[in-house]
Amino acid sequence: MKYEGIIIRPPSEADSILLQVTVGCSHNRCTFCPTYKGVPFRIKSDDEILEDIEDASSCRWSRRLFLCDGDALIIPQKRLRFLLQCIGRRLPWIERVGTYGNAKSILRKSVEELKELKHLGLGIVYLGLESGNEDILKRIEKGATTVQMINAAQRIREAGIKLSVTVLLGIGGSIMSGDHARDTAKVLTLMNPEYIGALTVMIAPHTPLQEAARSGKFVLPGIFKMLEELRIMIDESSFSACLFTSNHASNYLPVRAKLPEERAATLKYLSTVIAAGDGTLLRPEYFRGL
Ligand code: SF4
Repeated sequence: MKYEGIIIRPPSEADSILLQVTVGCSHNRCTFCPTYKGVPFRIKSDDEILEDIEDASSCRWSRRLFLCDGDALIIPQKRLRFLLQCIGRRLPWIERVGTYGNAKSILRKSVEELKELKHLGLGIVYLGLESGNEDILKRIEKGATTVQMINAAQRIREAGIKLSVTVLLGIGGSIMSGDHARDTAKVLTLMNPEYIGALTVMIAPHTPLQEAARSGKFVLPGIFKMLEELRIMIDESSFSACLFTSNHASNYLPVRAKLPEERAATLKYLSTVIAAGDGTLLRPEYFRGL
């Protein structure tokens, strides 16, 4: 397999075959994201991808495959259909294909087109919401409004594809911490995803967020304030069936809650840790990472 640049994938795709079909991110403007800065976006050629699919035919250890990089769903329907058909033919043991998809790329596809992709093996889409607050989305240049985010989520679910939504603790800064948590809970409720992954902001070098932090325009909330955001998001949201986790390396406290069943126990645990305010209960700063 040939990889170009940095390869990232969600924690839940740790055991998946990583097939790079695009390089970079078609949006590449989020102020907090260092991943593809300076990397021109391109969709790899069919020849490059087919060669990698051929290489992956010896990887029988994994039943899952993840399409990298930042937003593979941006690939036009005809080519994506072709690539999924090739994966199905050459790697018939693959049970689930996953990809990142931002709201704009999802909304470029109709429900019928998404259903076709589902039929060809696309089983899960990871959508970065980051915040349900309109002002924060604008400020971080996420490239979509809350309404677009909700519509994109509903389109994925209508197509029968599993939806995993990422939110970012601390991204509202200290002043908007409460609004960020409450508005995110509202938007998540409307999205009603199967999975939610909370990450915690890390101010990465050479990002606009770092500049904002240096100039004092962005002030990171305290650690326990960010845990309070997590508590509010769980407390004020409502789902039919959702696995809510904060097991990414950027988080101070790993949480894994089946909602709604484990809501009360999880809230009790979070409230206890927040009330204790004891940093030794948390992941040390030097163990955190993106
Ligand atoms: S859409 Fe994702 S990969 Fe692209 S810039 Fe934003 S956070 Fe980074």
